[in-house]
Amino acid sequence: MSTLVIDGCAVVTMDGQRTEYGSGHIVVTGNVITAVGQGSAPLASLADSASDSPVTRIDASGCLATPGLVNTHHHLYQWGTRGLAADATLFEWLTELYPVWARMDADIVRVVVTAALAWLARSGCSTTMDHHYVFPRSGGDVLGATVAAARQVGLRFHPTRGSMDLGASSGGLPPDDVVEDRDAILLASNAAIEKFHDPSPDSMLRIGLAPCSPFTVTAELLTEAAGLARQANVRLHTHLAEATDELEYCAENFGCTPVQYLDSLGWLGDDVWLAHGIYLDDAAIARLAATGTGVAHCPSSNGRLGAGICRTHDLVAAGVRVGLGVDGAASNEESSLIGEVRQAALIARSAGGPQAMSVRTALELATVGGAQLLGRDQETGSLEAGKLADIALWRLDTLAHAGITDPVAALVLGPRPPLEMLLVNGEPIVERDQLITVDERQVAEDAQRAAAALAVLSDND
Ligand SMILES: [Zn+2]
Repeated sequence: MSTLVIDGCAVVTMDGQRTEYGSGHIVVTGNVITAVGQGSAPLASLADSASDSPVTRIDASGCLATPGLVNTHHHLYQWGTRGLAADATLFEWLTELYPVWARMDADIVRVVVTAALAWLARSGCSTTMDHHYVFPRSGGDVLGATVAAARQVGLRFHPTRGSMDLGASSGGLPPDDVVEDRDAILLASNAAIEKFHDPSPDSMLRIGLAPCSPFTVTAELLTEAAGLARQANVRLHTHLAEATDELEYCAENFGCTPVQYLDSLGWLGDDVWLAHGIYLDDAAIARLAATGTGVAHCPSSNGRLGAGICRTHDLVAAGVRVGLGVDGAASNEESSLIGEVRQAALIARSAGGPQAMSVRTALELATVGGAQLLGRDQETGSLEAGKLADIALWRLDTLAHAGITDPVAALVLGPRPPLEMLLVNGEPIVERDQLITVDERQVAEDAQRAAAALAVLSDND
């Protein structure tokens, strides 16, 4: 097994004590971190870990090492529909985009998801979830296409089998031709778990189940999906409390708040994480904390759609587990996970003052916080001996950050730094801002062509 020594960089470990080293080292053997500490890597530990295998040393002076970032909410396929409905509310935006998404097939999905994953990697993301909930009848194996793309790019992947079974004719928001039959959804969900889910500790792929939202799925589907997920020991995800339209929908149709609705269906628990959670009252926050339910905070998407501001300070203070998500690329054209860290800090402070979120808390949400939501905090989200080697190395010695003493303030508040290296499972995915696993120019050209073809298909309808 090969050994990699990263030396001479600042290190933010995000371990239990939140240990930081001004100039430290990380030793990686195979896909596991074997040592982290102050100063140069001790020769003894190197000899132990390396035995007779080759050792590669990286002089990382001028850089900051952090855990690879963990993205907890995304719709990767939306990379093919960016920039549409640019000034719309959530419900207006969805209504305009559903018919476009209905034209996607596995070939288009594979190409645009590769682009979305490649861009995420460039922004320091080592683990991402995906919430895919549009399965056109003649679209082929779109979930399989996302899995193939993730394997090619090399990110640790947590795709969820999403679903919608409540069309407009039954009082839902989406048109009838983009929703599926409930039994078909449950069969496909089960098949996805059996085909793709890998529960092993160093798993590169774990499946979750994710009915889309209260206004696109039936209560029956929510209940049965939860039963299936718990039987198969996979996690549950959905959108919740994202917009005032949704609050009104829940009040009108269920006579309660979104959190009360989920609670009544057995949908709160430490195996559940919810995207957005903007419109939460104190009782809802207390209930999420008591049940261990997580929240994926997506500040750029919330701003793009003018949806509102998540009460992240109150959530964190109440002990709710919070991670960050870029959300789908059609409501966050930037889709940069390190960008979300900055955005999370700024938007929390806009609402609650400069103490509302420290730079370190913002980074914590994107690392250990995200790993908790995906159930991977024993394995990733921090830099510690025994954890998987998911590491982002940020260059902070260029003009962009010159003169900022605190590396965390530089990373979170300063410009997006060059990504010197991104390791996922011990393998380099990005080096000096260049993708290693795919040809970036080719990925861009293919994505451009796929988005153009999709636009033509939609215009022809
Ligand atoms: Zn979303």
